[in-house]
Amino acid sequence: MSNLTREETESLIQEVLEVYPEKARKDRAKHLAINDQSIEQSKKCITSNRKSLPGVMTIRGCAYAGSRGVVWGPVKDMIHISHGPVGCGQYSRAGRRNYYVGTTGVNTFAEMNFTSDFQEKDIVFGGDKKLAKIMNEIEQLFPLNKGITVQSECPIGLIGDDIEAVSKKAAKELNKVVVPVRCEGFRGVSQSLGHHIANDAVRDWVLSNRDGKHFESTPYDVTIIGDYNIGGDAWASRIFLEEMGLRVIAQWSGDGTIAEMENTPKAKLNLLHCYRSMNYISRHMEEKYGIPWMEYNFFGPTKIEESLRRIAAFFDDSIKEGAERVIAKYKPMMEAVIAKYKPRLQGKRVMLYIGGLRPRHVIGAYEDLGMEVVGTGYEFGHNDDYDRTIKEMGNATLLYDDVTGFELEEFVKRIKPDLVGSGIKEKYIYQKMGIPFRQMHSWDYSGPYHGYDGFAIFARDMDMTLNNPCWGKQTPPWKVQKPADEAVKAAA
Ligand code: SF4
Repeated sequence: MSNLTREETESLIQEVLEVYPEKARKDRAKHLAINDQSIEQSKKCITSNRKSLPGVMTIRGCAYAGSRGVVWGPVKDMIHISHGPVGCGQYSRAGRRNYYVGTTGVNTFAEMNFTSDFQEKDIVFGGDKKLAKIMNEIEQLFPLNKGITVQSECPIGLIGDDIEAVSKKAAKELNKVVVPVRCEGFRGVSQSLGHHIANDAVRDWVLSNRDGKHFESTPYDVTIIGDYNIGGDAWASRIFLEEMGLRVIAQWSGDGTIAEMENTPKAKLNLLHCYRSMNYISRHMEEKYGIPWMEYNFFGPTKIEESLRRIAAFFDDSIKEGAERVIAKYKPMMEAVIAKYKPRLQGKRVMLYIGGLRPRHVIGAYEDLGMEVVGTGYEFGHNDDYDRTIKEMGNATLLYDDVTGFELEEFVKRIKPDLVGSGIKEKYIYQKMGIPFRQMHSWDYSGPYHGYDGFAIFARDMDMTLNNPCWGKQTPPWKVQKPADEAVKAAA
């Protein structure tokens, strides 16, 4: 339970809303809620996936970020052209730490930035010819690439370039997969629409490429969907899925390849980790190919065990026994991790503000360590994400959607959590406030956090951050008295 009562949480929300002009106050009020586990549908308490208000500090990204940065970028043997001016790709490249095996620049390209570097003349006369030329250059310079995607930045949609025609022509000439993605940043309200558009591009340009072609199947073929292998997450998950007897035929998209994506319709079950970014394609495969999909959670031993048993229930006894074998094998290791860190973390309170699946998925891992999540929210969640969150959070805890910089700061000041987990834009504010902070998008340069191996690292990192002696030894810059301030005081 949160330390605040329902009434106290309600009055905290009202107090924070107080500073806004009336129209903004009304709007923001819909995005802030007190959790109530008895509610079945979150739309009764919180509004999500709406345009951010101009003037507030949102940490959302754009549709291009959702496609290039999240869904497509990690597909390692393809070259992803950031089509438009240089900045969108250059400033966002390699920030997510999607690990992969391969030789960068030879047969894998995920960390590199390819851009059409739009100039004024491209905006005026169109960039189609340039795009076609770039694709030919790519083929000469990087002949081991297995395909190309065109990730549209804002200007492409504005000037109406026909990237589909260029891509179709190039695909024929190069005899490779070339995927145009209409993920211009201005589309939608956040990166979430970029995920959807990227899924649709996979559906339209990739999934049927191997229809009717022979594939050596087994009854135990599964895929990992929506794991971007940040810090090695998908590897830490794949290990024990295979130990329990399943065969992972594709990773989407961390350390993934185009061939794996094309073979996915041959799977028996799609295992979905990040529901938000890849539920669309999972539903499509269910509809078109009859492949069931199942969400799972590999953060912390409790959720891993639950997930393994649910996954195993899809298969025969050999897999069910395999799941129990895996659970038994890792139990002593998990008990040792908990015995080491729980005494140091027990009772500590956490506030989260992240994207995708983490605002709810990591709650169980914190609870395994005796910690409590007292506030959580999504950058770009929809109501089906909040539906899944209500039951995970305690009653009277705080839910905040697309929370503004001001709101989160005020909530943190009042609730005084022991740890805040959010993104890079928040990190240094809270650290300067003397509040232990973990960057929970790319694991603060650590990880993996998924799976059994990941939990050991997660527990260590939380302890290392939370119990670091530095927090009490610093004065926030805004409390340091500067000589100029003293001079002003003396003169007064
Ligand atoms: S909003 Fe447009 S210009 Fe800005 S990063 Fe996204 S694609 Fe690039």
